Amino acid sequence: MNFGAEIEVAIARTRAEVARLHDELVRYGLVVWTSGSVSSRVPGADLFVIKPTEVSYDELSPENMILCDLDGEVVVNTLGSQRAPTAVTSAHAYLYRHLPEVGGVVHTHSTYATAWAARGEAVPCVLTAMADEFGGEIPVAPLAEVDPLAVVDGVAIGSSLVALLTAQRSRAVLLQNHGVFAVGSTAKRAVRRAVLAEDSARTVHIARQLGDPVVLAASTIDALYARLPTTAGPAGTSPSADPTTFTPIGARKAPRSRKRAAPVE
Ligand SMILES: [Zn+2]
Repeated sequence: MNFGAEIEVAIARTRAEVARLHDELVRYGLVVWTSGSVSSRVPGADLFVIKPTEVSYDELSPENMILCDLDGEVVVNTLGSQRAPTAVTSAHAYLYRHLPEVGGVVHTHSTYATAWAARGEAVPCVLTAMADEFGGEIPVAPLAEVDPLAVVDGVAIGSSLVALLTAQRSRAVLLQNHGVFAVGSTAKRAVRRAVLAEDSARTVHIARQLGDPVVLAASTIDALYARLPTTAGPAGTSPSADPTTFTPIGARKAPRSRKRAAPVE
């Protein structure tokens, strides 16, 4: 299949970027064996690139990344298409279909964040770095109670994640009893967010062992979140540097309000 020269170049670049970003999951200790996944939307096309299932991180390459449409279906007769994509591909696809501003998605079972998810407990915003990055707590998306197989249903997972992502600021969320999803305007920003979510979950967990963390006032969280730039430079050039993170200050609401404005991110 040929998408035309311009899109083929974008696909090739996206394959290389997604393959490379998986190294970051290993480097920061977010994954074991073959669990975890990074995906990226292909700029200019209704396509995304994701990793294959059950392939060692050491063996991931641009050539074995898998090209999917936004329904999560593998595009046949393309590089890597002989393999199945990672198990949660349909959840990634759901996020791309319903959140057009999202350019990258990361899913991991990183230990500390997933320990919070196992309890169904949000990571409270008790660190200034969390206020900067997440604008509040790292919340928990529930699994559908009516369907016991929702735990393996990408659409059920995706709809739970989208409901939460459109209701609050944090671009990293826990999936109850499962793990972590992070989104960003690019895959690199989503990876960065997954790393910081695990770091926050670890620090707050340790703080809890020693006593009760001091709560940050909502006004402090708002002020910290609002002080960051509203326009982004190249990926990774400022503390959060993600245009999807920075809702214009006037549009922001208190982070603990269930009715606060949906983040632009
Ligand atoms: Zn998972």
